[in-house]
Amino acid sequence: MFYSGFASGKNSDPINETVYQVKKNEVDLETTKKQVTDLEREVEHLSIVTEAMWVLLKDISGLSNELLDEKMKDVIQSKNSNKLKRVGCKKCARIVTAAHGKCIYCGGELIGTRNSKIF
Ligand SMILES: [Zn+2]
Repeated sequence: MFYSGFASGKNSDPINETVYQVKKNEVDLETTKKQVTDLEREVEHLSIVTEAMWVLLKDISGLSNELLDEKMKDVIQSKNSNKLKRVGCKKCARIVTAAHGKCIYCGGELIGTRNSKIF
């Protein structure tokens, strides 16, 4: 890294330490910007794949956009209600929010949940 020439430590010059932190923050910012750009590209790609798959499915099956909208609303509603649902842990019996997927205390499986989930 280009900022590696600056010392970082408790006994170093405060100005050097500040310059080091500024340079480090600049590098961190650039890394984060690249990660965001990569994620945006990935989301765009997945969006295109999803749309293409939907058009194929619609053409082959005769399903409609209205039916897809209805199903999407059902899924959103189901996800929102599951987030609020409280369930017991099979291992330690504590009550946790189902949205966690497993016990936050011991990692155990939750009552009424499956081991594998497609989504
Ligand atoms: Zn538990």
